[in-house]
Amino acid sequence: MTTLRNYIGGEWVAPSAHTDYLPLTNPATGESLGRVPLSGAREVDQAVAAAQAAFGAWRAVPPVVRARYLFKLRGLLEQHFDDIATTVTRENGKTLDEAKGSLRRGIENVEHACGIPTLMMGKTLEDVAAGIDCEFVRQPLGVFAAITPFNFPAMVPCWFWPYAIATGNTFILKPSEQVPLSPTRIVELAHEAGIPPGVLNLVHGGKDAVNALLAHPGIAGISFVGSSPVAKHVYQEAAQHGKRVQALGGAKNHVIVMPDADMDRAVANIRESVFGCAGQRCLAGSVLVAAGQAYEPFRDRLLSAAKDLRLGYGLEPDVTMGPVVSATHKEKVLSYVEAGRKDGATLLLDGRATKVEKHPQGHFVGPTVFDGVHPDMTIGKEEIFGPVASVTHVGTLDEGIDLVQRSGFANATSIFTTSGRAAREFRYRVGVSMIGVNIGVAAPMAFFPFGGTKGSFFGDLKAHGQDAVEFYTDKKVVISRWG
Ligand code: NAD
Repeated sequence: MTTLRNYIGGEWVAPSAHTDYLPLTNPATGESLGRVPLSGAREVDQAVAAAQAAFGAWRAVPPVVRARYLFKLRGLLEQHFDDIATTVTRENGKTLDEAKGSLRRGIENVEHACGIPTLMMGKTLEDVAAGIDCEFVRQPLGVFAAITPFNFPAMVPCWFWPYAIATGNTFILKPSEQVPLSPTRIVELAHEAGIPPGVLNLVHGGKDAVNALLAHPGIAGISFVGSSPVAKHVYQEAAQHGKRVQALGGAKNHVIVMPDADMDRAVANIRESVFGCAGQRCLAGSVLVAAGQAYEPFRDRLLSAAKDLRLGYGLEPDVTMGPVVSATHKEKVLSYVEAGRKDGATLLLDGRATKVEKHPQGHFVGPTVFDGVHPDMTIGKEEIFGPVASVTHVGTLDEGIDLVQRSGFANATSIFTTSGRAAREFRYRVGVSMIGVNIGVAAPMAFFPFGGTKGSFFGDLKAHGQDAVEFYTDKKVVISRWG
């Protein structure tokens, strides 16, 4: 059985003898995958000490040389691409295609961070006053840490640490204890790429490790991705301890379908948005707002498209939807379906009892479709994070936009329309951060900022893109007069 270790100061080390371990299982098959330590303050202290010790020498490594380690890592990630994607499927449940897509998105961040010599440049202005020049340079701040969720085990950690170390900081990654295998594999490859000891550290664990990171005086800043209540806690706690924080939280994404939409495209994209990764995506479409005449055709076609999904183990051929991540998470999703039913929504397709015969141990939930969902119902306003579509009907685009604006979340939203005017009105007024126009999953690529607003994001600088460089550096202004 694989027993995971922490990676501290360039070595794989076992946590203290008192540490508890969490068993890891494949959510589709029930197969045992090993166990992960639930580290605590002691291991966090060790990792911070190693990262602090490495900082001075690492920040003095020229950015172009730091980037070369990432070039090397990028080659290793390509070489081991299929293995890592397979590990993502085995520990998380998403299909192999979905795992490969997400790993590709992760690698794109490593590639983008390779451009750090340009991304990190400052600015200069001569003669800010007679004979006086002014410049600003970006400098790293010390040790950063990231805390990441279960739904993208390989990708989300890559939103953070490549930029943080490229800019000259040292780093501690605390991945989700539910899916620690793929991030561990990527850290092994970072080791193979020759990233010096202490520059990148990995501490496995749950909330004890998180709370130790948030309070540690040796850490300059925290990047977080996870559910909104934990994001808020991380934001408040880390800020109280004087740290920079960016905390990406949960979502409740609305998709508007206008009567003039290309219905084939809308249905195909929205099916992928709602049911892809079994709905466990912060960009997943959740409330499907059909306007005017779009309502009946859209609802009926989505229902039939949902019935065509093939549930199963994501490594097997022709499977188009995997399980949810755990028995506990399955219970949570089922409780939302029950809440929807009790609140009076019409259950058109009920995935609660769906079984995959070959894998009786799997945490499968079949595609589920509700109609008549009102924004005040629990399923109309809370994040379900499972394969559940909530269809609702509005008269006009204005009513649709009002409905989106009522949500406590503002992560992503999309519109399907062939009207440029409707699309422009939507993007101008909707107030959500990641907007799709005829796109079901509005996922910004590595060179654009990623993150929401309202209850979906706590902080100001978002993940990846130029925001990452801003977040991981301080701008030092130098004013000079000579002669
Ligand atoms: P989660 O909040 O349960 O866990 C995220 C991380 O926080 C994990 O590393 C976990 O160990 C830690 N954690 C959990 N409970 C904690 C507590 N009480 N105190 C301190 N730390 C704690 O989230 P999850 O279930 O792993 O992931 C799903 C959530 O992540 C969804 O809400 C989803 O929308 C969100 N998410 C958001 C984005 C985004 O870009 N906004 C991206 C991916 C996932």
